[in-house]
Amino acid sequence: MQPKKHEKPDINLTTPIQFAKGVGPERAKTFAQLGVDTLGDLLEYFPRDYDFLPEPVKIDQIKPKQEICTVGIVEDTSFLRFNRPPMFKVTIADETGFLPIVFFNGGYLAKQLEPGKILVVHGKTGIYKHRLQMNNPKFQILDEQASADPANLGGPKYPATANLSSRQIRSIIRPLLPELTSHIKELYPEPLRKKLELIPRTQAYRQIHNPTDEDHLAQARRRLKYDELFLMQLGLALKRYQARHTAPATPMHTTDTIDSRIRARFPFLLTEDQNAAIEDIVKDMQSETPMNRLLQGDVGSGKTVVAVYAALLAVANKTQAAIMAPTEILATQHYNNITKFLKDSNVRTALITGRISAAERTRLNTDIKNGDIDIVVGTVALLNEQIDFQNLGAVIIDEQHKFGVHQRASLRKAKAPHCLVMTATPIPRTLAMTAFGDLDVSVIENAPPGRGKVLTKWVKPHDRAQAYDFIRKRLRAKKQAYFVYPRIESDDESAEIRSATQDYELLSKKIFPDYNVALLHGQMPADQKESVMADFRAGKLDILVSTVVIEVGVDVPNATIMVIEHADRFGLAQLHQLRGRIGRGQSNSYCLLFADTDSEIAQSRLEMMTKSNNGFEIAEHDLKLRGPGELFSTRQHGLPDLKIANIIEDFDLLTLARKNAFDLIKTDPLIQDPDHKQIREELIKKFGTKLGLVDVA
Ligand code: ADP
Ligand code: MG
Repeated sequence: MQPKKHEKPDINLTTPIQFAKGVGPERAKTFAQLGVDTLGDLLEYFPRDYDFLPEPVKIDQIKPKQEICTVGIVEDTSFLRFNRPPMFKVTIADETGFLPIVFFNGGYLAKQLEPGKILVVHGKTGIYKHRLQMNNPKFQILDEQASADPANLGGPKYPATANLSSRQIRSIIRPLLPELTSHIKELYPEPLRKKLELIPRTQAYRQIHNPTDEDHLAQARRRLKYDELFLMQLGLALKRYQARHTAPATPMHTTDTIDSRIRARFPFLLTEDQNAAIEDIVKDMQSETPMNRLLQGDVGSGKTVVAVYAALLAVANKTQAAIMAPTEILATQHYNNITKFLKDSNVRTALITGRISAAERTRLNTDIKNGDIDIVVGTVALLNEQIDFQNLGAVIIDEQHKFGVHQRASLRKAKAPHCLVMTATPIPRTLAMTAFGDLDVSVIENAPPGRGKVLTKWVKPHDRAQAYDFIRKRLRAKKQAYFVYPRIESDDESAEIRSATQDYELLSKKIFPDYNVALLHGQMPADQKESVMADFRAGKLDILVSTVVIEVGVDVPNATIMVIEHADRFGLAQLHQLRGRIGRGQSNSYCLLFADTDSEIAQSRLEMMTKSNNGFEIAEHDLKLRGPGELFSTRQHGLPDLKIANIIEDFDLLTLARKNAFDLIKTDPLIQDPDHKQIREELIKKFGTKLGLVDVA
């Protein structure tokens, strides 16, 4: 039959999925649930797996010990249940002969493989009692409509749902491929594409849905992954460029005198890592381009002095600095540190908290506006409110563990401040290159010298008594201990899970009756919490029984023992953060992970903790255990979703894409070169208007 030309709908990448052949309004809804609204989405609905089958052969052509594929009708079945192991036997036939197939333990197949069904089998042939036989082959049952056409066998497997099978999806996509891919445009100039050893983009889309073999598939995957990573990195490169080319910042000049005057404020010599970070920061701040730097370092690694250095450099250049923390406790802690460093200096500081009176607040605001205060410390919320700085030169944001919610300070005016963000969250290299890829990064890897070691041990149930004895010994030596629990109280459902409240009774009355034990948790009134903390800090308490509330902002160098109950219930990042509470003094510290678990992942986490004290190593391991999906959602960071690339598995490609993207922005920051027209269009398609690119079609 001749196709009627005028009936052919206009098919392109923006056509709603509903207009595809074989899709009506109902199926369109199912597709919508899979995130497929248009035919363009359908084209990017990639198979999750493939079966590459050899060309099917007739049964009389089959030879022993070969990997083959054949198609036949089920003639006969039998179940030998008393065999060891039980066997389900099937005989299939085509017009050339019969082939016996055995499925060991295959009783469950009786319902599926009834006589009359057409079967495609794929596997290795063997010989049993001088006869050809297949054992446990892979198989597919062809449903009635499907022909035994070899083209329908094997091939791509799409992520399916209950009412939309992989095969149905395939039969919808396949006929559309030539038409849809004809709308795909090449992104790169020909010489560049060749240099990158990428197949053409159109071809890649065709091949990913219909590869003939593994090589074909690998080529298609590489091309599409590269595009995805390149566009993501280009978006980041553009964001970075824009952040640096808004309003200019005050270039901070420095001299040996300024440097040594600042250093003289610190009661210790800075470590190599601290010096390297300061070098990065000074270099940034000397420029008119605003600094946009991330300073990473484990808890206790000594980030504060680096921040204070940056603030004092701004002050030395007659500008102001703001230091922001996520909580009032941390802001106060920073303020106390800073005033200690600045004792008897002329630098004027102020702490703004929710507790100061309205009158005081007004007075401080006026002083800040008049330039009578040099360094202002407060919470992010407070300092983002309308504080009018006379001349803000540097903003330092301590995000502690909440990194990721990072947003640029909205403090800026005609002059942009230099911006330093600090985090104790170790960010694996892969994530640093993606989620936060628009920031420059400095890392403090090694803590200041003179600290004791932290030894970590996984304590199994039968070693509990021994562990208590060990703790008693340390307590007798006047050391203090934290006991951390996954929950405040046990309820009926979780009776077997130890809780802080329940164990507080046990520990204080039965196990450590001779010591002072106190309970601390998030549901206690604030003043009570504070007084418990003050007592612990002052050494009046020996044991603090707590939940994860102690994670942030507690610094007691004499506390050298940390017990974590049900340690298998905590994530790696959290375990590492908790452990950061000890190891702050000169004597050795001990982290005891109490756990009894069969879960392999939990065991792997516990083992990692006993092996490593390095936050980056742990974060990298965590990322591998959990995969990037759970730890990092691209959407959450304003980046388009990755549909095919994986930042861990495709790290090399990511690195290449990143370099090329950042190089492109260096030479063509506004992406205006006609050679880059297609890249620009694709970028707008992916990021929308977020990047401030205007579509100049
Ligand atoms: P972070 O903010 O990275 O968690 P801090 O800046 O609070 O760590 O530093 C932790 C402790 O180490 C503080 O008591 C600080 O005074 C001390 N410290 C920092 N740098 C040094 C150094 N170079 N030498 C000795 N002690 C240091
Ligand atoms: Mg800190």
